[in-house]
Amino acid sequence: MQVIILMGAPGAGKGTQAARLSAHASLAHISTGDLFRENLKQETALGKKVKGYMESGNLVPDELVLDMLFDRVSRKDCAAGYILDGFPRTVPQAEALGERLGDSVELLALNLEVPDDLIVERASGRLLCRGCSHIHHAKFSPPKAEGVCDNCGGELYQRKDDAADVVGQRLAVYHEQTAPVEKFYGAQGVLKSINGVRSPDEVFTELISHVPAKEKADG
Ligand SMILES: [Zn+2]
Repeated sequence: MQVIILMGAPGAGKGTQAARLSAHASLAHISTGDLFRENLKQETALGKKVKGYMESGNLVPDELVLDMLFDRVSRKDCAAGYILDGFPRTVPQAEALGERLGDSVELLALNLEVPDDLIVERASGRLLCRGCSHIHHAKFSPPKAEGVCDNCGGELYQRKDDAADVVGQRLAVYHEQTAPVEKFYGAQGVLKSINGVRSPDEVFTELISHVPAKEKADG
């Protein structure tokens, strides 16, 4: 069984690559964000526990996240393995994951590396249209007229989440948490660093050089 941990800062392009990798290797894409939403929406026993912690303003314990995760990966579509997106974020989580996985699993951590200043530049230049879903970028795909969508003439705006200081803060938190996780997997010899400063196609080509292609077994 192959378990791939896809790491990368928010804004490094992890979501796009996870989806492509999932298709390429016929491995299910397991995002912990989706797991939370699914369990809460379907009001599963685990979802109810999660809700209790959230409503009382407490952090959801790692053990509960792992319960949700292993409940999900016990399904048939994960029999050959899966891609983890958004987990583990801390060393205790990585250790707990390792304990539950045991020795029979082939573990690979792929770390999508993009310098912070580039992530900030990409995010803070993003201009969204109020009229349609079109996205311009102040530097990479500027609108013909400032503040006006080329596609529909609608008003362009910047999301608060994309402001340089907000993105910078998010990245600082990410690195503080995740640098030890990189070390952890590096010491185990299962960490591969991927240069994420290229076109999505080029990044994908490097990613899959570490992951054998596989046909879907059934359906
Ligand atoms: Zn528009």
